[in-house]
Amino acid sequence: MTEKLVEIKDLEISFGEGKKKFVAVKNANFFINKGETFSLVGESGSGKTTIGRAIIGLNETSKGDIVFNGDKINGKLPADKRREVIRKIQMIFQDPAASLNDRATVDYIISEGLYNFNLFENEEDRKNKVREMITAVGLLPEHLTRYPHEFSGGQRQRIGIARALVMHPELVIADEPISALDVSVRAQVLNLLKKLQNELGLTYLFVAHDLSVVRFISDRIAVIHKGVIVEVAETEELFNNPIHPYTQSLLSAVPIPDPILERQKELIVYNPDTHDYSVDKPEMVEIKPGHYVWGNKAEIADYRRKHL
Ligand code: ATP
Repeated sequence: MTEKLVEIKDLEISFGEGKKKFVAVKNANFFINKGETFSLVGESGSGKTTIGRAIIGLNETSKGDIVFNGDKINGKLPADKRREVIRKIQMIFQDPAASLNDRATVDYIISEGLYNFNLFENEEDRKNKVREMITAVGLLPEHLTRYPHEFSGGQRQRIGIARALVMHPELVIADEPISALDVSVRAQVLNLLKKLQNELGLTYLFVAHDLSVVRFISDRIAVIHKGVIVEVAETEELFNNPIHPYTQSLLSAVPIPDPILERQKELIVYNPDTHDYSVDKPEMVEIKPGHYVWGNKAEIADYRRKHL
């Protein structure tokens, strides 16, 4: 039986008030199973990061629920509950240069959460945990006395990963975690994240725009367009049988490594104006087991005709 670690129900996230109100995410519905890698993909500004930040409590939500391990965690929480969530949900940020305190040593950066949550028995235990983690992310124990500015961007991201995983979180939100890394290092880091996932029983929420990376890493994928989740499916199902026109357009732009096929491929252009939602309103529909699509009654009937 798969168990749901996270459930997102009718979630809306908005910024500003009154006339200036901007709804960045609306009607979001999806869940993340324990132990899986779930990815949110979409173009820049579609709301991926906003959802990740809301799960971790950094963005307020304006409607709906975020459920973690069966408990609602958005909105006001008792201090001890919030603390528990902060430990159990760790984030790996997009920009390691901005997210690491440059005046702290790497040893302190990786240890900070351990100190805050008393997660070690004695100094020797803390040192062991930190040494183990720094080695696991491909750096060396002698790096621990240095400062973030002494590292390359890629190495700084490894420090960010170590800082998150040393907490033994249940959910890791990784926001474009490898886009800052050298191409040669990316696969190593993805493999490392997968290995740590197996060893520590982690669940990942990946936020990404590079579909080849997403295909490699994900069990299931949600596609988001302008704040609306338009499709959710298992990875291979999504790539082999994309249903929503936006997903089809996104996948048609993925480069094919074969130059002949690449020249022959046809780009599908997405036109959001084709949806008429004035009367027949859209909703998320499970069109076949595990494959969800956003559409109104007429569209869903059409998708069923074409895809089932
Ligand atoms: P990227 O890949 O560029 O990070 P994204 O899909 O993660 O893009 P978000 O960063 O989630 O997109 O942004 C979604 C929308 O919400 C954007 O239009 C952004 O300008 C807006 N937004 C995000 N944070 C805020 C904020 N604090 N105040 C106002 N608007 C915001």
